[in-house]
Amino acid sequence: MRVYKFGGASVKDAEGVKSLGKIVQSNFESPLVVVVSAMGKMTNAFEEITNLYFGKQDRLDKALDKIRNYHLEVIDKLFLASQDNLIEQLEELFSDLKLFFRGNFHQNRAFVYDQIVVYGELLCTKIIHHYLNSIGLDNVLIDSRKCIKTDSYFRDANLNWQLTIELIKKFVHPKKVTLAQGFIASDLAGNSTTLGREGSDYTAAIFGYALDAQSVTVWKDVRGIMNGNPKIFDPTVLLKRVSYREAIELAYYGASVIHPKTIQPVQRKKIPFFVRSFQEPHITGTKIGLGHKLKPKVSCFIKKENLVLLKISTLDFSFLIEKNISEVFALLDRYQMRVELTQNSAISFSVCFSNKYRRLIELISVLKKKFKVVVYRDVMLYTIRHFDQQAIDRISKNGKRVLLEQRTLETAQFVCI
Ligand code: ASP
Ligand code: MG
Repeated sequence: MRVYKFGGASVKDAEGVKSLGKIVQSNFESPLVVVVSAMGKMTNAFEEITNLYFGKQDRLDKALDKIRNYHLEVIDKLFLASQDNLIEQLEELFSDLKLFFRGNFHQNRAFVYDQIVVYGELLCTKIIHHYLNSIGLDNVLIDSRKCIKTDSYFRDANLNWQLTIELIKKFVHPKKVTLAQGFIASDLAGNSTTLGREGSDYTAAIFGYALDAQSVTVWKDVRGIMNGNPKIFDPTVLLKRVSYREAIELAYYGASVIHPKTIQPVQRKKIPFFVRSFQEPHITGTKIGLGHKLKPKVSCFIKKENLVLLKISTLDFSFLIEKNISEVFALLDRYQMRVELTQNSAISFSVCFSNKYRRLIELISVLKKKFKVVVYRDVMLYTIRHFDQQAIDRISKNGKRVLLEQRTLETAQFVCI
């Protein structure tokens, strides 16, 4: 059993879907699970639908039409004959969504978000299921929400591993191609949940783990994992081999080509994990596995933007003790901040985090009741793994002001503004 995953960029148009078909066709010699996420930027479009639902409901129909037309255009370019049956099935999904709009009385934004955004993946996999059939690739379409089971922490749900493994084994076809949605899941009450943005890599790893797959491959619009985002750090080189541990570190620090939760499950079962280009399938790309820590051995660069840096001290400049710091962490957790870096000195505690759910104002107002708080908005965090002076010089050349710096044996980090 093997697992393939195709992300939004690889199925953003008819051409992309066709190359998915070719890759699956030319590699199909054993049972395969194909995990697919929403087409192109469709998850963003459904996020926008969620915003409209809470604000301007009169604009919902028009925004949904745009999403509908995007998919219809792909269908139009993909098939020679008209696809009434497929289009009818897509319309059913749109009707289900409208039914939810009318019947929903929940005000919990994260809950509503998850009930809406899953449609990006549902629409996409319907189209791909029909396309693969049309090129003679018999495949079984399953609804990942029926086998990936989570708690009810909407938008970033946590897996119920035991149940999920059982259900995956039950739903995946032992011989054919099984097609499944990435990113989406459901809680025990049957509500839709999601695994966090860009979570379909993680879905692929979950399937791989549950099925003891011989490999998991994610097909992307890049040649593999580079030692930096080529749009930011030019020139970059392709990392041919990366150890599980190093991949976890890179993802943790924000290397956006892999979702942070992805590597752990494949590492536990020592399943080789490949990142390859769907446009250049002849290139092997990156292999994450046992052995080589990093090949070639180069410095790796990661940049995160739109972060917040807080410098917190007590109002009377007394020492910040464990009790204060744990209070600060409890608040960071309560307001769902994702902490990137912390540093403490005798009288101040600095923390850099992402204001993921836009709750910074609430957080600051609570903190200010007890502490002196200096806020730097819109800061950047540069991380260099395996740094040397030359690598640091590359970062510092960009003329930004460094607000905070931290170095460990293998990692140097700079918060800049
Ligand atoms: N479609 C989801 C997103 O865009 C999941 C994914 O792409 O992995 O976040
Ligand atoms: Mg996506």
